[in-house]
Amino acid sequence: MTKRLIILGSTGSIGRRTLDVVRDFRDRFEVVGLSANTDIATLAAQAREFRPRALCVCSPEALSAAEDLAMACGSRLHVGRPGLVELVEEHDADIVVVATVGFVGLLPTLRAIELGRTIALANKEVLVTAGDLVMESARAHSATILPIDSEHNAVLQCLNGSGPERVRRIILTASGGPFRGRTRDELARVTPAEALDHPTWRMGPKITVDSATLMNKGFEVIEGKHLFNVPVARIEVVIHPQSIVHSMVEYVDGSILAQLGVTDMYLPIQNVLFYPERVANAHPSLDFPSLGMLSFESPDAGTFPCLRLAREAAEAGGTCPAVLNAANEVAVERFLAGDLGFLRIPAVVEDALEAHECGPARSLADIMSADEWARAHARRV
Ligand code: MG
Repeated sequence: MTKRLIILGSTGSIGRRTLDVVRDFRDRFEVVGLSANTDIATLAAQAREFRPRALCVCSPEALSAAEDLAMACGSRLHVGRPGLVELVEEHDADIVVVATVGFVGLLPTLRAIELGRTIALANKEVLVTAGDLVMESARAHSATILPIDSEHNAVLQCLNGSGPERVRRIILTASGGPFRGRTRDELARVTPAEALDHPTWRMGPKITVDSATLMNKGFEVIEGKHLFNVPVARIEVVIHPQSIVHSMVEYVDGSILAQLGVTDMYLPIQNVLFYPERVANAHPSLDFPSLGMLSFESPDAGTFPCLRLAREAAEAGGTCPAVLNAANEVAVERFLAGDLGFLRIPAVVEDALEAHECGPARSLADIMSADEWARAHARRV
């Protein structure tokens, strides 16, 4: 059986790795649609290779090149953020891979859920900002959400269908990022280039900075709460610098299941695209003797306050996680541009959370207005 795929954000690191899986199993997948923000050169190469029925570009600067490309490939062209929603609406697919970065992925994901598609989710902000809405809609439309993120994919595999009543703890592992072991004084002077040098995973710039601040792990706690219906208090984070144990589930009887593997997003992506089937691949096996040792330690909460901020936002619920995300997005942008010190990232986020009057997040409008408020507030700070 062939599965039809739409890949939102096909030119980013997850999008490209998804197409690597597709390339290795050409008879099992058909690429229906691809979308990119600005990287038209990569999109062009992908479109020529996979011949999708439809393309979408978001950035207006890429538009004229995209028109030529769509013409050459005989693909329909959708444009801008509305184009992402049209791409999902107007073309049938079995799986929509959401590999976009930021808030932009939310609307097309919600639409895909309403259409009952299976969502292969890599975009963090979707569940962080709108987890209640997204999961409610998924239940109402019997849509399945399968996480690509290595930690949540690990939990999915460890749970193997078990419900939250059997779970004592979910233990998310974190590499600790490039600044593990550093003091606050040392962190005050770090540059964007140092923050982008992640020790174990190669990822896009936004998520790499989020890994350095541990905000990424905070987001993963929030996502875990929604994906697995387990309260935040029962989701723990442990630093595991080797990134070999991708996460663990402790059952109520004290038995712990861990998922291990090489640090390559190919594996969770393959897992999700074939789920629940397991298919042989040509990947090398993990070599335990050469690993020597796996180590675990507690996160340094004083030096990396983002983890605490994310937990607090998750406990508060409502519009607070959306504010956490939006303020963080602005702060990371400014940090990458060289305008904001590394330690100011959590400071900007904390300021926004303190100033925000947390309200209910019953609709997309509630979330979007919290998002806009937080962006404006963070820019002023
Ligand atoms: Mg992760």
